[in-house]
Order: sequence, then C-alpha cells, then structure tokens
Amino acid sequence: HIIGAESFGVSTQKEMLEKIAALGLPMQGAERLCTNISEINSYLDEWETKRFEHPIDTDGVVVKLNRLALREALGVTAKAPKWAIAFKFPPEEKLTQLRNIEVTVGRTGALTPTAVFDPVHLAGTVVRRAGLHNQDEIDRMDVRIGDFIWVHKAGEIIPEVGRVELSKRPQDARPFRLPAECPVCGSAAVRLPGEAAVKCTNSACPAQLKERIIYFASRQAMDISGLGERIIDQLVEKRLIRDYADIYALKEEAIAGLDRLAEKSARNLISAIEKSKSRPLGAVINALGISNVGEKTANDLAERYRSLRALEKISRESERELELADGVGPVLAQSLHAWFSEPHNEGLLARLEAAGVNFVSNEPKAERGSMPWNGLKFVLTGELSSMTRAQAGERIRALGGETLESVSKKTSFVVVGEAPGGKYAKARKLGVPTLNEEEFLKKLNDAEENNSPATEVMK
Ligand SMILES: [Zn+2]
Repeated sequence: HIIGAESFGVSTQKEMLEKIAALGLPMQGAERLCTNISEINSYLDEWETKRFEHPIDTDGVVVKLNRLALREALGVTAKAPKWAIAFKFPPEEKLTQLRNIEVTVGRTGALTPTAVFDPVHLAGTVVRRAGLHNQDEIDRMDVRIGDFIWVHKAGEIIPEVGRVELSKRPQDARPFRLPAECPVCGSAAVRLPGEAAVKCTNSACPAQLKERIIYFASRQAMDISGLGERIIDQLVEKRLIRDYADIYALKEEAIAGLDRLAEKSARNLISAIEKSKSRPLGAVINALGISNVGEKTANDLAERYRSLRALEKISRESERELELADGVGPVLAQSLHAWFSEPHNEGLLARLEAAGVNFVSNEPKAERGSMPWNGLKFVLTGELSSMTRAQAGERIRALGGETLESVSKKTSFVVVGEAPGGKYAKARKLGVPTLNEEEFLKKLNDAEENNSPATEVMK
C-alpha cells in the first residue's frame, strides 16, 4: 500500500502495485485483477493448494477494491476498512509421530502436558512441541505415546495437536495419565472438583515459585531486565530467594557468584531491581500474581484505589462489600479477598513496602499542570517497532498527556505505527496532526528530558 497514493498519480490498487514494483521493491507476484465474484472465488480456490509452492509462507488472501475513489466512498468501520477483506486458508496440517508427553508445572501449580513429536515444518517454523491442555483433552482425543498425530498452528502461531491418525496406531502405543505427584517437588497433585487442571498442592513448590518470579519480573509487571529464567532458576535452587519479596534483599556479591554471570551484569541486575521499586502502581498490582488480575485489571484497580493499602483494606473487609461498593465482578472480588486475606501474603506486602516498592499511584493530579504534555490528547494506531502501545501509553501519561481510543477534532496527535487502522484515515479527514514512530520518539525523548520525575531528582 502507498499512503497518499493519489499524490503519486495512482488511482487503483493495480497501479499502486505497478508503481511499487517500478521503484524496485520486491513483489510477491501473486496479485490478480478480478472483475466479478466468481473470478474471486476461483482465485481463492486456486491458491488454497498453490500456496505451498509459493516462496513466501502465506495464511490467506486479501481481496481489495481496485479503484481508490470507490474506497473513499465506501469508508471504514471503527476497526477495519470496508473495501478490503481477508480470507484465511484452512491451517496447514502435518503428520508426525508423538514420542513423549512431558509434564511441566505452571505459576498456578497446574500440571501441564506437552506433546513432544518428530520435528515438522509448519507455517514458517520447525515445530517439535505442542500443548495438550489437560487430561480431559488427552482422553477426548485418545492420544497415546507412539501415535501418529496431525499437528497444525492455531491462528498460524500456536502449535496444536488436531487429531490422532488411528489407522497408523502402533501396537505398542501407550495411553497417558498425568502423574499423581508433582514432577518438580513430589507433593501430591490433585484435581479439584469443577476444575480441568491437576494441580500441585504445595504452595512453596519451586516450579510455581519460579513461574511466579518470572511473572513478577516481566515487562508488564516489575520490568526487571536481566532477571531472566536462567538466573531465576539458580536463585531458587540455591535458595537465595524463597518468594518475590526476597528479590529486594539480594546482594551484589551473592548474584555475582551465580553461574555464567559477569560482575558487570550483577551490578546491572541490582540497579534494575532498584529501579523497579518506582514502577507504576498498576504494574505493582499486576506483579503480585493475584488470580484473575492481569495487566488491564491491575491498571483499572490502580486507577480506582490509587494505593495498594487502600485496595488491600477494601478487599479484606469482605467480598460482598467490594462487589457492592465498586461493581467489581464476583469472581474478581473473591480472588482479591482470598489473596489479601492470606497471612503469608500480608507478610509479602509488608516486606515489599519496607523495601521501598511503590505502593501508591504516582500520577498526582495536582502536579499535572506543570507537566510538559499536560492537556495533550494522543491516539495510537498501528504497531510501533520500539515499544508496545501499552508502553507508549505509560510514557505519554507519565508526561501528563492523555491517551484516548478514538480520534476527534480535539485530538492533539495521532501516532501512526505499522499497519494503522481506520483511526489514521479519520485523523487525515479531520486534519488532526499525525506523528510517525520516529517523530513520536523524538518528541517523547525531548519531553522526557525536560521532565525528570521527582524520584530521579532525589537520586
Ligand atoms: Zn510441586
């Protein structure tokens, strides 16, 4: 696609592609101008098989209206243009042999079975493993170790076992049952009534602990760069950390003693840990690992309560009160109540607070007036390559700006990433200024330089 194609004297999709090719850009060379529906249908049928011979992995076909003037007339919906439509091919399936079913233990203690099979090339990558969800799923498919299985990628991304090829079942194929003990700590693993998952009953199980800490340190939570899986494994195994609050008691000497960790990385890790203490409240709530509380919910809670202690107080009082007071759904209310009532978690919070982790919303309304982007309204569309939209939003808000979902005349800037949606078209129509990623980053960096937050000044 060429943005603003008309200004290059281009009036159709066909001309647009010719123009791009004339500029010397590589083309996929599969486009065709169809003049009626039956031509479109036969094109789709043809490519359903021909796609495997095409040098580029494809998951479907996009049909676009050729004349740009007609596109303008048709317009866009809130989510997508009305003049283009995507047709997905059925997922590519490959037959392979199941060699083993491995069991791992997740953050919630759930024993998760994973199919391990002979490698197959699927939708652009080599695939060797696929999640099998739970025992019910295994029983439903009657999948046995040694079976030949058909695998595909759901949404062209996540490998899945589709079905068993019963006609090829070997004599010695073995049925599989999830173990009754946790493969990591050996504690009893049980399936509670009404749940699909078999779970390890040991709340101090190292597998769960590792997963919880990985989540705690992740980008959408405390964002501790350098605290990766390999380091966490060692910290847990050497008993340097028994829960995530222990992260804040780590000493540089102890970390520097870990395998394959240079002195410099140890120092960087300590400073990343230090820096994480001033993460926004929403990120801190997310990091706690309360069930049913993900990134979005955590940010909502942060905005509503503005302090972790305030959230704790109302959550502990009673589930019902939380529901009545704030229209929080019953499942979330129950999760919050259970988590904040657990004595062990009370201790965790106290230690996080004592370590200096931020427990309050750091967007004091009173200070907004002096912030560089106070009063500016941003709308983000398309993908940015240097950060997620959530991260961009966080940085905009830290400067006093607002992020909004839809474009209006009051919008100050529309930030346009890769593959922008209808918001871009709307911005152009309303004459709202747009920023590409480079322009946005420059503006952002300049503003951030002029806006050293109080915490930085204190250091
Ligand atoms: Zn366990």
